[in-house]
Amino acid sequence: MKTLIKNVHVLTMDEHRQEYKNGYLLIEDERIIAVGAMPESLPAAEKVIDGAGGILLPGFVNTHTHCGMIPFRSLGDDVPDRLRRFLFPLENAYMTKDLVKASSAYAIAEMLLSGVTSFCDMYYFEDEVAEVCHAMQVRAVVGETIIDMPTCDSPNTQASLAYCEKLLQKWQQHPLIKPAIAPHAPNTNKIADLQAIVALSQKYQAPITMHVAEMDYEMTEFAEKYQQTPLAFLADLGYLDCEFILAHGIHLTQADIELLAAAKGQVSVAHCIAANTKSAKGVAPVKELVAQGITVGLGTDGPSSGNTLDLFTQMRMVVNFHKTKNHDRALFPAKEIVAMATTNGAKALGFKDVGSLEVGKKADLVLVETQSVNMFPIYDAYSALVYSANASNVAAVWVNGQQLVKNKELVHENLTDLRATLYQKMDKFVAAARQQ
Ligand SMILES: [Zn+2]
Repeated sequence: MKTLIKNVHVLTMDEHRQEYKNGYLLIEDERIIAVGAMPESLPAAEKVIDGAGGILLPGFVNTHTHCGMIPFRSLGDDVPDRLRRFLFPLENAYMTKDLVKASSAYAIAEMLLSGVTSFCDMYYFEDEVAEVCHAMQVRAVVGETIIDMPTCDSPNTQASLAYCEKLLQKWQQHPLIKPAIAPHAPNTNKIADLQAIVALSQKYQAPITMHVAEMDYEMTEFAEKYQQTPLAFLADLGYLDCEFILAHGIHLTQADIELLAAAKGQVSVAHCIAANTKSAKGVAPVKELVAQGITVGLGTDGPSSGNTLDLFTQMRMVVNFHKTKNHDRALFPAKEIVAMATTNGAKALGFKDVGSLEVGKKADLVLVETQSVNMFPIYDAYSALVYSANASNVAAVWVNGQQLVKNKELVHENLTDLRATLYQKMDKFVAAARQQ
């Protein structure tokens, strides 16, 4: 089946950042088969969509999140040590397979409605998360968390690793889903387990995703115990020879950045500015990472850390914080920020077939309308996306050629139903959270 999208400002985000101010794009099944300036006569298609001057670009890629954590959103936002006071105890006592499933469906709906077409998830019951991704037809890296304590889905690390191996076996051939291993952090896993994770990654050619250089106490602990940074420690264990998606990296040193630049494996950084600054942890050295040619994508972190799951919030905060930190108004122009949120994110997650609007690529795309009050006038489409737009401007979304959002609504799901199901599964959790 062919779908034609016409009268759009196309930002291809290809290597040359080619754009077509009055353009069109043609999809056949899951692929883009034509893109360019509006011709005199348009090609025939079964479905024709008039974009009415909206901006068409590759889908946003959320490189770090925790879909199962919607129940935690807005809980203890301003409380110090929220992780140990709220998250770990509530997670272990009340997080169930059904709750993760309902939360993930809701989180995916929220992401789709904001134009996110692929993401990297790290949580528990990831087999369920993968099932939800499969049912909702989104592209995702799904990483099972490995942490040195009993969790809501495993009594110990051995059981977590066994669960993870089954996840890798079951999903490794799926066209949209990439199973992964997600050690929680360098300071929350034993060395033997960190080694077993590298072996597992090599055995299945599976990516590893992990929180690294996020906490100041993580840095102090490694300096005292090993006279090393956590990143240097992981490099010695072979992490940089694997496909490695490092989340946060707030406290990466210049020497760490050089290690990342020299890595044999495909390594990337998921920059989560909203979560990092809300928790007063710091601003990652993104200028220095980019200067060394390291791929940096944007991540929302979980709904309890970053609250919203859209990349418009992230794009705005990234520019504001990094321009201010570096006292440089010209740093990271809007075009570079849109690239981080789209094509660089796709590269970070190893999704080679998406991330730009080019003939032969899979059709993961988003149409941002320009009729709303905040979208006028537009001198530069990249600027409009970074500085003026928000998630409510997303009009339509396609993943792998399938339209999943139409006229700002989900095509196959009902948001009210998803919320009702989640709310019903949350009752015990909510009662306990109020007592905490
Ligand atoms: Zn996280």
